Amino acid sequence: MRVLGIETSCDETGVALFDTERGLLADALYSQVAMHAEYGGVVPELASRDHTRRLLPLIQQVLDEAGLVRADLDAIAYTAGPGLVGALMVGAATAHGMARALGIPVLGVHHMEGHLLAPMLEEDRPAFPFVALLVSGGHTQLVEVRGLGRYTLLGESVDDAAGEAFDKAAKMLGLDYPGGPQIARLAEHGDPARLRFPRPMTDRPGLDFSFSGLKTHTLTAIRQLEEAGKLDDQARADVARAFEEAVVDTLVIKCRRALDQTGLKRLVVAGGVSANTRLRERLERECAKRNARAYYPRGRFCTDNGAMIAYVGAQRLQAGERDETGVMKAVPRWPMDTLRKP
Ligand code: ATP
Ligand code: MG
Ligand code: FE
Repeated sequence: MRVLGIETSCDETGVALFDTERGLLADALYSQVAMHAEYGGVVPELASRDHTRRLLPLIQQVLDEAGLVRADLDAIAYTAGPGLVGALMVGAATAHGMARALGIPVLGVHHMEGHLLAPMLEEDRPAFPFVALLVSGGHTQLVEVRGLGRYTLLGESVDDAAGEAFDKAAKMLGLDYPGGPQIARLAEHGDPARLRFPRPMTDRPGLDFSFSGLKTHTLTAIRQLEEAGKLDDQARADVARAFEEAVVDTLVIKCRRALDQTGLKRLVVAGGVSANTRLRERLERECAKRNARAYYPRGRFCTDNGAMIAYVGAQRLQAGERDETGVMKAVPRWPMDTLRKP
């Protein structure tokens, strides 16, 4: 079954072709990051308009790359949520329109299920069951995964997501959006011994996270350095380092707890923040200690992409799931634990 995947939930237009027999055939991405950078964050209306401009050319591009034409498609999957409603509607309307014209099934899929299963696109993929740490711009969750659609939420952020905290801390340091990669780069030159930031919610049992206090702590540290006339390039790098260490350490502590609690030996880390090198190093070490293994998507499938949507869509479409004719879905808020096994 050849499935076209469409991702338009936020600020990247992602398109891919997944074949259930041959695997990933092609994928293409257009990132709007440069356009939104000027505003310091994603502007929803601009995002929707840009998806409208980019989507059809990208679909043509992946078909060309795979040497296929539209009539070769067996089904279409699109991101139905969670995300920006206007942006989601562009993907949903395009998917439904094309599917109707071609007379093929179409299915709206969950964006976070896409992130969660993105490591399945790798040759070295995890077997079920596993613990997943989902760390992206809008989510920080620990999930026990028993199979497709068999998810138990173990813990999540009670306020900001980890990626969001990276983006906000970057803004405070005068860095561009998205802040995660920028903080990581700056932190490389930081002195880990100069500042120590708190590890929120690690002093009590449980698997929930909170990152908003860390944000305040970062702002206070920057102000104090500024008032003392000490906010030079080195100090900014030291703040970035202390911030990154605090987030990474917090995530590692909770992953360790989740592995202990479930007794599982496989850890999947996905979503934009899973691209963070420090986080990967620390998790590798932690897994090695307990005879466990960590799995990640390849770099470009850590952040939003069409491949993960094509993959999840293909699994569910193959099991017979599909949208009702003409009923397109765009769901801004959609808790992942409402998902079911197909
Ligand atoms: P969601 O998937 O929750 O709807 P999203 O799609 O906006 O949110 P992603 O595209 O998965 O999120 O990830 C983007 C986030 O990842 C941004 O917050 C960005 O700062 C962060 N990020 C990307 N690379 C890194 C990195 N190397 N270190 C830390 N954070 C990173
Ligand atoms: Mg994004
Ligand atoms: Fe995402």
